Amino acid sequence: MLELPESRTVARQMHEALKGKRVKNVVLEQTPHRFAFYSEQKERYAARLAGQAVEGACQRGGMVELDFAEDMLYFSDGAYPRYFSVGKAPKKHQLLLEFEEGDGFSVSVQMYGCMRLERRDVCAHAYYRAALEKPDPLEDGFSYEYFRSLYPEADAKMSVKTFLATEQRIPGIGNGVLQDILWHAGLDPRCDMRSVTDAEFHALYDALRKTLRAMCAAGGRNTERDFFGERGGYACVLSRETLGTLCPKCGGTIEKTAYMGGTVYFCSGCERR
Ligand SMILES: [Zn+2]
Repeated sequence: MLELPESRTVARQMHEALKGKRVKNVVLEQTPHRFAFYSEQKERYAARLAGQAVEGACQRGGMVELDFAEDMLYFSDGAYPRYFSVGKAPKKHQLLLEFEEGDGFSVSVQMYGCMRLERRDVCAHAYYRAALEKPDPLEDGFSYEYFRSLYPEADAKMSVKTFLATEQRIPGIGNGVLQDILWHAGLDPRCDMRSVTDAEFHALYDALRKTLRAMCAAGGRNTERDFFGERGGYACVLSRETLGTLCPKCGGTIEKTAYMGGTVYFCSGCERR
C-alpha cells in the first residue's frame, strides 16, 4: 500500500518527470478490477484531461495528487502510478495516461485502490479532505501535544496498531510503516493503549517522526517500488523479508502474526506486549 514515505517519493518523482507535459489520452479499466475505484463519471477522464498540461504533483498523507489547471487526479491505497517511456506502455492496467510525446504512466491496483478525477478547488471526498486538513506527521504542526491529543480518553480500549493506523487519525500511516516505528518505540502492535506511559508516548512520537524521516530520505521502503519501478532505499527492520532473521538490537528472532486484518511483524525481545 502507498503510505507516506512512498507517496512522498512518488509525488516528487512525478513532479520532476511530468511537469509541463500535455495529456494525449486516458484509458480506464483496460483490465477490470473489482476493487479499483474511480470518480462517478468515468467517461469524463479522457474528455477533461486531454490537452491539459501537468502543473505538478504533491503528497497528501498517503495519497499522491497530480495537478492540472483546474482538475486533479489522485491515487491512494493500492493504486500505484508507474512511468513508462515511449513504446513501453504495459498491456495490463486499471488506468493509463499517455502524453503527447508518447510516454506516460499506468496505474495498477494491488488489493484495492482509488484513482479519482476531481476539481481541485471543490473536492469534498472525505478521504481527501482528511489528508488535506490534518497535520502531516513530518510538519511542524504535528507537535507532541497534537499527537497526544489524538488519544484523548485515558481509558479508551484500543491497541497501539489501532491507534496509529485506523480512522485516518494520522494520514499516511498504515500497517506497513508502523512495524518499524513500533520496533523503535519498543511497543508491540497489540499493546493496549491504556497501559502506555508518558515516557512511552514520548518514545512513540519520536520513533514515528524519526522513522518516517529516514524512510522519506531513502526514497521509501525496500518492500515497495517507486514511480520508476525501483525499490526504496530504506531497509525495513521488520518485514516479510526479515521474518525469521535475527533482530539487530537484541538478537531475538523476528516473528509474525495475523492481527486486525493484516500481518504484523515483531520482536518480543524489543517490544513489550
Ligand atoms: Zn529485538
